[in-house]
Amino acid sequence: MTGAEVTSAQAVWESWFRAFLTIHQAWPDAVEVACPDGDGGRMRVGYLADPDTRLGTAMAWCDKCRRGIYISRVSVPEGAPMAGFEASAAEQASVVPPDLELFDPDPAPPSTA
Ligand SMILES: [Zn+2]
Repeated sequence: MTGAEVTSAQAVWESWFRAFLTIHQAWPDAVEVACPDGDGGRMRVGYLADPDTRLGTAMAWCDKCRRGIYISRVSVPEGAPMAGFEASAAEQASVVPPDLELFDPDPAPPSTA
């Protein structure tokens, strides 16, 4: 049964990633996506990025359970909420709340770090 845990973590991450993608690809329209946990919460997405290149990290989280994922090296779509890497903590917190419980990054591919 080795690998069962990995597969489960992967499936969970992918369900959150699909929720993120739905929102990410809809900008500048704001779409409603339910929390993959089915807790009645709504998914939110915010971006921390370089204001010049608009490349950065996306956070996708549930406004109820406060859990979520982050995806790096993302191009920020027009109309999406974004704060610069150099922005103040308060400004970043207005885009991405500081109290989120983020899952580990995508467990599927081997780490390249
Ligand atoms: Zn939730």
